[in-house]
Amino acid sequence: MALESVIIAGGGMAGFTCAKELRSRGFTGRISIVDPEGVPYDRPPLSKDYLLGTRDAAQIRLIEAEWFEQNDIEIITSTVVGLDTAAPAVTLADGSVHTADKIVLATGGTARRLPIPGGQLPTVLELRTRKDADHLRSVLREGTRLAIVGAGLIGAEVASSALSFGAEVTLIDPVDPPLIPAVGEVLAHRLHRMHAQKGITVITGVPTGISVDNDGVHTVELADGTSVLADVVLVGIGIVADTGLASTAGLETDNGILVDPSQRTSHPDIYAIGDTARTRLPDGTLLRRAEHWEHAMNTGVTAAAALLGQDLPEHGASWFWSDRHGVHVEGVGSMLGAGSQVIRERDGIPVAAFRIDEQGLLAGCAAIDGGMLVRAARRIIDRKKPVTGEQLADPDVDLKKLAR
Ligand SMILES: Cc1cc2nc3c(=O)[nH]c(=O)nc-3n(C[C@H](O)[C@H](O)[C@H](O)COP(=O)(O)OP(=O)(O)OC[C@H]3O[C@@H](n4cnc5c(N)ncnc54)[C@H](O)[C@@H]3O)c2cc1C
Repeated sequence: MALESVIIAGGGMAGFTCAKELRSRGFTGRISIVDPEGVPYDRPPLSKDYLLGTRDAAQIRLIEAEWFEQNDIEIITSTVVGLDTAAPAVTLADGSVHTADKIVLATGGTARRLPIPGGQLPTVLELRTRKDADHLRSVLREGTRLAIVGAGLIGAEVASSALSFGAEVTLIDPVDPPLIPAVGEVLAHRLHRMHAQKGITVITGVPTGISVDNDGVHTVELADGTSVLADVVLVGIGIVADTGLASTAGLETDNGILVDPSQRTSHPDIYAIGDTARTRLPDGTLLRRAEHWEHAMNTGVTAAAALLGQDLPEHGASWFWSDRHGVHVEGVGSMLGAGSQVIRERDGIPVAAFRIDEQGLLAGCAAIDGGMLVRAARRIIDRKKPVTGEQLADPDVDLKKLAR
């Protein structure tokens, strides 16, 4: 039966991309995006220029609002509260039931809360939505004592942005340095050291409790018996994939909604994409669930192709970026796993890290202010081009030439 209608629950990067791709691939049927936040917007700026106030709400939209009308894509500003796999159909917060031939779950996740006393306090902030960023910006000013728990991607970015407000920032993480799995040990050390160099108090410690007094001053207790006083506490320790709708409807989940490489869930009419989805390969291997912007986009494209019965696109090695303290970090492939690490230095400073796997092939690369190098590394990974550790370590070797 020809596909006539698709409902997409969630209008973040993944849901929006799926809708856009369905249209650009020729689908003329009904497309509805349901999202309580209305017109889709981009999340990475929430810890960067949007938080800083250098880009406003209109400037972080994924596309102009009129585009949806022009492309006959309905935006329903509501929340999906129920999923009926048999119809298939979704129930919205107002009780209305909407049926479609296929349903795509693109509901992302919620910020992970600290599982400690006080971790659920409403004054302990998180950063996932535009509203969260508006609130955080409104409480950051000269002298604000900001304690951030989690020095990974979002925590580090907010720490850096908060300095522009004149905030006194304390960054707490149990691991020193964080981000080794993403960028390798050497670059992780360089990045983590930047915080202290910029005036941030960096603590390696495990929070055990948070309390707040009548004046709004928070105390973050640490396992070593010390504590940190803060006017504002932000927790950035990743997300919990939103699997509630799927598991209630009987779909298979495991730290994410399980999907096959075409983004199809355990039900043939339901797809899942973006941060909420986790791929299970045909041999049963569960891949790590990604929480990155490009992955959200790629899975939206794949689902659109699959829904239309078209060939699945090849996306190649996964990629992410992050910005802090005026430097731009990018990573591609995987720095985790067996093999050897190679460091490229410039003037004695590590600027890039590579992982060569046990087969001698490049498997991962991360770089600081090295976007072109990462792009070339990506081609080398995708094309399985042979390279040597000596070539990768030599700052005078142009990776673009090796990628040809
Ligand atoms: C502050 C911040 C900074 C980031 N920076 C970077 C970065 O620098 N680089 C990078 O690679 N990645 C970054 N990311 C990660 C990236 O933004 C995410 O991976 C991406 O947004 C995931 O897209 P998604 O569409 O899967 O989910 P989301 O963007 O979370 O969108 C999900 C949408 O679903 C909606 N929704 C939820 N439940 C329901 C429901 N029941 N019914 C209907 N709608 C629902 C939500 O309102 C939301 O709009 C950042 C994320 C954040 C929060």
